[in-house]
Amino acid sequence: MDALPIQETSGQTWASVHEGVMHACGHDGHTTMLLAAAHHLAERGEFSGTLHLIFQPAEEHPGGAKLMVDQGLFDKFPCDAVYAMHNMPGIVQGRLMFREGPAMASSDDVTVTLHGPGGHAASPHRTADPIVAAAAIVTALQTIVSRNVDPQQAAVVTVGAFHAGSANNVIPKVARLELSVRALEPGVRDLLEQLIHTVVQGQAASFGVRAVVDYRRDYPVLVNSKRETEFARAVGAELLGEDGIERQGPAIMGSEDFAVMLQQRPGSYVLIGNGTGDGSCMLHNADYDFNDDNLHVGAAFWVRLTERFLCN
Ligand SMILES: [Zn+2]
Ligand SMILES: [Zn+2]
Repeated sequence: MDALPIQETSGQTWASVHEGVMHACGHDGHTTMLLAAAHHLAERGEFSGTLHLIFQPAEEHPGGAKLMVDQGLFDKFPCDAVYAMHNMPGIVQGRLMFREGPAMASSDDVTVTLHGPGGHAASPHRTADPIVAAAAIVTALQTIVSRNVDPQQAAVVTVGAFHAGSANNVIPKVARLELSVRALEPGVRDLLEQLIHTVVQGQAASFGVRAVVDYRRDYPVLVNSKRETEFARAVGAELLGEDGIERQGPAIMGSEDFAVMLQQRPGSYVLIGNGTGDGSCMLHNADYDFNDDNLHVGAAFWVRLTERFLCN
C-alpha cells in the first residue's frame, strides 16, 4: 500500500521484494508507529474519551485524505482535532519539528499544449513553430516568481517536462509543457494561476500558435493551527526535552494531502527527523531507508499526545 514506482537499491535485507515498487517515503514506518501506539493505548493507555486512529492511504496520489474526508471521515468518526506525523531525512534522528501556520506548499499541475499547422523545417515562414513558442514560454514563466510575486512570499514554477517534435527536418504541430506550481499562501496561489494563463496566452499569440492551458489544483496549502501546534509542541518537549524539538521549523515547498484534513479540523502536522549524514537519503530516492529507531519515538509521542489531550 502507498508504495512508489521505484526499484529499491538500499541493499537492505528488508528491501522491497516487489520488482520496481518500494516504500520510499516511509509510510510503512508511520503505519508501524501508529499500530504500536494503538497496541499500547489499548492495553495500558490512560485516557478518557474517544481516540480515532487514521491510517490514510495514497499520500502519493491521488490523495487519500480528500477521499476519506469526502466519504464522511469526520461525520462517521467525529474529531475535535487531528494530528499527523511524517519522517524527514536531513533532520537529526528522532527530533520533532513543529510549525504553526502555513507549513507546506500547495501543489498544482499544469499542462500547456501549443498547436500550430506543422510544416517543413526548411520553410519556417510558411508555418508557426510551437517549439520556439514553448521555449519562449519556459523562459517567460521564470519571470512570474522573480518579477510578480512579492519577494517576501514563497512560490515555485517548475517546468518539469517539455515534449515536442520527432525529426530534425519537421516543424511539429504540437509542443507540450508540464508544470509544477507551488505556493505557501492562497493569495499567491491565485496569482500564479492567473499569471500562468496570461503569460502563456500572450506568448503564444505573439508566435501565432494556439495555446490550451489545463490548470489542475491539487493539494492545498497545509496550515497548522496555533492552539493545536502549541499543544503538540508541549507534548514533544515533555517527551524529548527542549533540545529534542524544534518549535518553529522552516516551511517546506513540498506538499502533503493531510492539508485537506486540516481544512476540516484544527490540528498539526509534525515532522520527525530521519537522520543526517551518510545513509540519510531523501524521500522518493531508491536508496531511502526509514530509520527504525524512530518507531518508539513516534509511538511514544502518539501515546503521550493522546493521554494529555484526553486526560481526566
Ligand atoms: Zn510520504
Ligand atoms: Zn512521498
